[in-house]
This record gives sequence, C-alpha cells and structure tokens, in this order.
Amino acid sequence: MGFFYQVFLIFLAVAPSALCQVTEFVSIDCGGSSNYTDPTTGLAWIPDTGLMSYGQSSKVQNPNVSSVQYSTRRDFPIDGQKYCYTLRTEERRRYIVRTTFLYGNPDTGATFPQFELYLDTTKWTTVTIFDAARVYVKEMIIRAPSESVDVCLCCATTGAPFISTLELRPLNLSMYATNFEDKFFLEVAARVNFGALTPEALRYPDDPYDRIWDSDLEKRQNFLVGVASGTERINTSQNVDVSTREYPPVKVMQTAVVGTKGLLTYRLNLEDFPSNARAYAYFAEIEDLGPNETRKFTLTEPDFGDYNNAVVNIVENANGSYRLYEPSYMNVSLAFILSFAFQKTSDSTRGPLLNAIEISRYAQIASRTDVLDLTVVDALHSMSSENVFTDQGDPCLPVAWEWVTCNSMMPPRITKICLSGRGIKGMIPSELNNLVQLTELWLDGNSFSGKLPDMSGLTSLQIVHLENNQLTGPLPPYLGTLPNLIELNIENNSFTGEIPPQLLSAKIKFKYGNNIGLHGHSRKKMQFRWILGASIGVFAVLILLLLGSLLLLHNLRRRKSRQKSNDKGGSLRTSTKTSAAYSIVRDGHLREEGSHYIALSDLESATDRFSKKIGKGSFGSVYYGRMKDGKEVAVKIMAEISNDGDQQFVTEVALLSRIHHRNLVPLVGYCEEEHQRILVYEYMHNGTLRDHIHADSVKQKELDWLTRLSIAEDAAKGLDYLHTGCNPGIIHRDVKASNILLDMHMRAKVSDFGLSRQAEEDLTHVSSVARGTVGYLDPEYYGNQQLTEKSDVYSFGVVLLELISGRKPVSPEEDYGSDWNIVHWARSLIRKGDVMSIVDPILIGSFKIESVWRVAEVALQCVEQYGVSRPRMQEIILAIQDATKIEKRRREPPEKLS
Ligand code: ATP
Repeated sequence: MGFFYQVFLIFLAVAPSALCQVTEFVSIDCGGSSNYTDPTTGLAWIPDTGLMSYGQSSKVQNPNVSSVQYSTRRDFPIDGQKYCYTLRTEERRRYIVRTTFLYGNPDTGATFPQFELYLDTTKWTTVTIFDAARVYVKEMIIRAPSESVDVCLCCATTGAPFISTLELRPLNLSMYATNFEDKFFLEVAARVNFGALTPEALRYPDDPYDRIWDSDLEKRQNFLVGVASGTERINTSQNVDVSTREYPPVKVMQTAVVGTKGLLTYRLNLEDFPSNARAYAYFAEIEDLGPNETRKFTLTEPDFGDYNNAVVNIVENANGSYRLYEPSYMNVSLAFILSFAFQKTSDSTRGPLLNAIEISRYAQIASRTDVLDLTVVDALHSMSSENVFTDQGDPCLPVAWEWVTCNSMMPPRITKICLSGRGIKGMIPSELNNLVQLTELWLDGNSFSGKLPDMSGLTSLQIVHLENNQLTGPLPPYLGTLPNLIELNIENNSFTGEIPPQLLSAKIKFKYGNNIGLHGHSRKKMQFRWILGASIGVFAVLILLLLGSLLLLHNLRRRKSRQKSNDKGGSLRTSTKTSAAYSIVRDGHLREEGSHYIALSDLESATDRFSKKIGKGSFGSVYYGRMKDGKEVAVKIMAEISNDGDQQFVTEVALLSRIHHRNLVPLVGYCEEEHQRILVYEYMHNGTLRDHIHADSVKQKELDWLTRLSIAEDAAKGLDYLHTGCNPGIIHRDVKASNILLDMHMRAKVSDFGLSRQAEEDLTHVSSVARGTVGYLDPEYYGNQQLTEKSDVYSFGVVLLELISGRKPVSPEEDYGSDWNIVHWARSLIRKGDVMSIVDPILIGSFKIESVWRVAEVALQCVEQYGVSRPRMQEIILAIQDATKIEKRRREPPEKLS
C-alpha cells in the first residue's frame, strides 16, 4: 500500500466527518480587505468588512508572525459602547469560538490595551496585552444557545479594544459534551502537546477540527516549568488509534514525554483561574514494551482524592499499544497555578508517560435581557428601514445600548427608553406593554401615528414624553390610573375626546396643548354618569340576591329527592359502574360520561368469544377485538381478582382514564363482571417495540436508526408527560421495550400503567416490594425501595441501549455469558470511546456515528448508579432531538466504518 494511500486511510478513520467539516469553518480576518487562502493551513479567510461597520483597520508591523491575517487588526473607538460580531450557528451544535489578538507596533510608545471580551452576555475574559509581539489566543467551546452568537469587545481600561482574527469551528460527535452545558461554556485554559517536535503549535490540517495544540517547547513565562530531571522526549511514526471521544490529532499522540527516573512534573499558570474545570489527559503507549515490562503510574499531585489512587496502565486501559486512553475529570476545582505530577508505581518497570493535556474553565452562561423586553426592542427595530438603529448584541449587557437603560436584575429588564427625535414612523408597537419595569418613555419628536396602544401593564411608568408626533384617537382611561405617573407630555399631536379626569390632578405634570379635539370633563356629565353608575350597581345587587335564593331552594329540593331514591336500595356495584365519575378520551375528544364501562357480552362479541389471543403478560392474556363501532381494541384480562376488591380496580381505571397524551396508549373502557376484570385499550397495529428489536429480522429491518430515534423520542415524551404533565406526577414503574407499543404509523405510545401509582400515593415513596422487570430495574430503587421518577429514567436508559444495540437487557447464558448485562457491557465500551462495538450490526453503514454517540451518552447518564446523577426526561428528549438533527443533517454520504 502506497504511503499516501495509507495516510489517507488513517485520515478517514480518524476523522469520519472532517472532510465536510472544513467547508463549515468560518475564518474572519479583522481589519483585512480581501479574501485569500492561507498557504500554511489551506484555510480560506474573509475580511470583516461586511460584518463590522465600526472601528478602523490598522496595519500591524510584526517581524515574528508572517501570516496574512496578522498583518492588520481592527481598532475600536474608546467610548462606552460595545462592539459585536454576530456569527451564525446551528442551535445546540458545539463549536470552538476563537479570537486572537496580535497588537504589534511595539515602538509607538502607546499604552498596551486592556479590555473585556464577551460571548453574548457571558464574560469571556479580560484581554491584557503585555507583549506586543505575541499572538494572544482566546478559545471558548460552546453549545450554541441559539441561531447566532455575538462576540463583543468593550470596556477598555487602557488603550483601545482591538481584534486580529475571529474563527468558528464546528465540532462533531459528542466532542466536548459536558453535563453542565446548559449553564456553562468551556473556556480553554491549556491544550498542550508534550514531546512536540518543534516549538510551533499544531493545528489544521493535522487536527481536522483545527484545535490549537501548544508545543511544550514554546517559551513563555510560567508555562511548563518545574520539569523533573530524567524527563525525556519520545516520538514514533507509527499510527496511533485515536478514535475515542475527543479525537486528538494523531500527530499529537505520536509524541510524548517520559519520566525515565520515575517522575513527571510540570507547573503552569491557568488564566482566569481559580475555577472549576474540565481536565483531560491523553495517553498512548508509543514505546514497544518487552514482554515483562510494564508502565504503571499514579497522579500524585494535585490531590483529587480518589483519583490519586487510580493506577494508569496505558496498555491495559487502552486495550493495547498505539491506542489512545483519555481519562478525564469532568469537574475539578483548580488553582491559578497548576502543578501536576505523575509517579511510577513500585511494581512498574517504566516511568510515567504523557502525550497531551487539555484544561478548560467552566464559564457560567449569563442571562440575556428578559425575552419580553426583547420583543419590544425587536418591534422598534423593525419599524425603521433607515439607519436609525445601529445596535449590536444584547440591549442591556455587558453595556446597554445608548437609547436603553436597564436595571441590574437577572435577567435584566429595561427601565428607560429614550428615542427622542429619531425620525421613527408608524404606530407605537403594542409589545410596549411587555416592559413591566419601564419607568421612563421618551418617544417625542418622531412621526409616531395612530392610536396609543394598551400600556396599562406599565405600572412602573413615571415619565412619558409623546409630544411632537402625529398620534390620534382618544386618550385611554388607563392613563389616569397608572399608579406612579408623575409627568405626561402629549403636546402637538392630534388626540381627541375627553381627558381622563385623574390626569388633571395636581399630582401629575400634564401638558396637552395643541391637540385640537381634546377637551376636559364637563361637570354635569360627570354627575349624570355617577348617578347612572350608582343606580345600575344597586339594581345588579338586588338581582343577584334574588337569583341566589332561588338556587338555594332548588338544591334543597334535589337533595331531598336523591335521599329518597337511595333509601329504595340501589346496589353499590351498579352505582360504581354507571357512575359518571370518569372521563374517557375517544377519538381525541374528552367526554364526561359513564359509558366507558363495557358489558362482558359486548366484549365477547367484539373478541369473537376471546378467540384471537395476541399476547400474554404477567397480568394475563390479551385478545384482539373489534367493537360495534368498528374500533379495534386490545382486551386485557386481568388474572385474578385480588382481595383489594372493587375499589382499587375502579381507582386504577379512574387513574388511567384521566391520562391523555398522544404518546400514551389510550384506555377505551373497562369491564368487571363474573369475577373478571378487563381493561380495553386502543389496538396498536405494530405491536411492541420488543418484537421489532428482538424478534424476526424482517421486522428488525424496518427499524432504521432514524425510526429508532423517533420511537425513543415518542416514548420519552409519553414518560415525561406522566412525570411532569400529570398532577400529581405519575411514576410508570415498569418501563421496558414490551411496554412501548407502535401504532400503524410506527408512532410509539407507552402502555401498561398497571403498575403505575400516583407519586403522591405514598408520600415517602417507599413501597414494600420493588416492582418492575429484570434487566430494567433501577438498582437504587431495588436496594432501598425509594421510588422516584429517576427509576423510570434508569429503565428508559436500558431501552435506549436496546435501541442502539439491538440486544436484550439480560441474556440467556448461551448468548453472551451468565453475568451478561446490557448496562455493564455498554458502559465499559462507551467509556472506552468505542461506541461502534455496541451498535446493532443491522444498522451498520446507515447512520451517523455522532448521532449514535449523542444517544449513547445520554443512555449512560440514565443508567447512572444514583438517581440524582440521572437526567430528567426533558433532557433526554433534547438529546434524542439533537441526535435526530445530526442524523438528518448529513444523510449523505453514508458513514464509513473504520
Ligand atoms: P408484563 O405484563 O410483564 O409487563 P407485557 O407488557 O408484555 O408484560 P401486557 O401488557 O399484558 O404484557 O401485554 C402482552 C402482549 O399483548 C404484549 O406483548 C403485546 O404483544 C400485546 N398487547 C398489549 N397491549 C396491546 C395493544 N394495546 N395493542 C396491541 N397489542 C397489545
């Protein structure tokens, strides 16, 4: 095989989606003037001229850096404003957002700049230039919160804010996913390639995702000092298998440092620390160890408690040499100065080895301005086609737009709008009423026309200036009742009608001159209205009294007659059956009726005397039936009538009948006759999910990955509804593939609430026997009988693993061994980054591995040992939707398997 062919194959294996990745890179040369391709990376750059109309381009003299993108920078004015670039993103996709800063011009004598960098409203970092010749790189890993992100510069303390480049790099798979990404971005503090061959950083094309891996040879203050004696650099040209979770570049893994005297130590500063961090170490054995040789070591510093006792044995952990092992600490607290040390264990023949590290700070995502207030600024923006508004970023944060004042609440609310004399035309937007914290409104000197919108919700308003516009119509009465109003000016408009009398009180400074057609109240009219109002009031009270007494009389009579009929002796049983206490959904309509009781004779004829058995569960047999109205039903005969008697069954039916959701199997009715209890459900044409995953292969083939995702989403929504949509919440207690049924359109519905009980039934949630099915049972619940929604989440995690793998939760001995269990099996492979080995062979070649990763990750979280660590159904739904998006995004070309 030719060398280049080999390299190409390696590239494909390492970076399954990297080829299409590059076309999605956004590389902006700030201050640049033309498009070009960087000859060293082959990446296309565009100037920022179309993206930023503020500031000016400056030439940068810098002998050290030759790249075109560093020959200019964009300088922004020194004022109180923020300057933002808006980058388009795909919501919920992960990206690296990178800004770089090369000041250059060291001899001008000007003070070096210091200013702040924000991502949306989240403080990213303070950019402080100490060395004019150094390229400062700031990198943030985000899961895009919406369809765009703003990168904003502001708040200079010295010099003027500037920027050299802005880059956006989409990530694939579940790279850099954390459990905290709803609330935190990841600011990269260190990404180091140990044993590097040159002092230059390594990036694209060596790293298909264009991460920047600093060389450990780079000379920088407080960067990788305190190196232990005996530290040696090693490298290999042999391929390293990096197909785990974070896909570090092969080139980074082909070099390493080794502590030949048994110790590796380093010290470096972590900017913006102390903080909580995500820390990754990358290890691959790139030396050929002899048969009796071992390389085992532990982390002795910093002290991470339990982690320090964990012995790294790369070959064992990675399942061989030249393979990556990447242990991580997802949440550790680190100081500004990080010292770390790896120490050989006493029984090891070789010293510790390290290929790379990556440390990122959790940056808490700040709130944006309240969405209600955003509707107002958006409406005002859309009113003006001319260049009236030049605002960027969020209206309030990090610094407010010039015409807006905000309070310091989180999320911030707008307290003042000052748009005097802006030449705005059109009606005042009705959204204005959303600004509930607004105290001052200045819209004077524009061309606002039409009637005043409803502003009665603006109860904090104190000062309103609407003078010199073309407003018409009457003054709405609420103006007189705004509790805090002290100043209102409506001069020079075309208002008509009467002035609300309260506005004329001395408390309010009210100016209304030059509104032809506007007049004050006449006294007589006022008196007449008062008398009329009072008479109507008295009359209404009299009528109400009369109606009340009639109603009381009627009720008394009814109660008497009901008592009489009860005395005649109606049976309790009959009264239960015909009671109208339950409401049943039929054809999607809620009906309050007693007719969901179905007579046994009707069921006998519907099922042809129970002749078509479709299944058997632990409760009893299930029969197919067709009711007189043509409705197809599944008739479930409950085995025995227990001593609990009628009441429990009736309660159960009442519970079932109250739950209506399109992802729950509807209950059509029930029967209780001749010691038989029967539940009648809507018939699900495609049977159970279990049959489709585990039964004959023809049916299996119907279930491609996208169908599996849609089934998972449907079922998750059904469960979420039970947990959060019902009041009180309901725990299913027996979530499993055979309780997920498929209708004729393959939409999934959760069934069998036979074991469900309302969560509040037993407030302590402790029940005497753990109920559920082997293989799906939450170990925490099994251990302590503490029942929570998280037990369903555990079982649902098992279903997700079944969907990915096509395997049963537990298996007969002959298949995979006696102790085999889907959770343990999948967990160990996924943790090694080997999701491919758990994927159902029938799916191979027809799915996006990133999509499977997303589901595998959330499935693992679902089957965490403790309920608190498991996600809520809502989060699971989002993950499945994410996976669906990924799968749909690039269905072509099909995934290549390495
Ligand atoms: P267990 O009782 O242990 O939970 P199970 O869920 O399989 O097991 P049932 O809910 O009684 O037991 O169902 C038995 C079988 O009947 C199912 O496997 C399915 O094939 C069939 N079945 C149940 N309900 C319906 C339905 N609404 N439509 C179509 N088939 C159904």
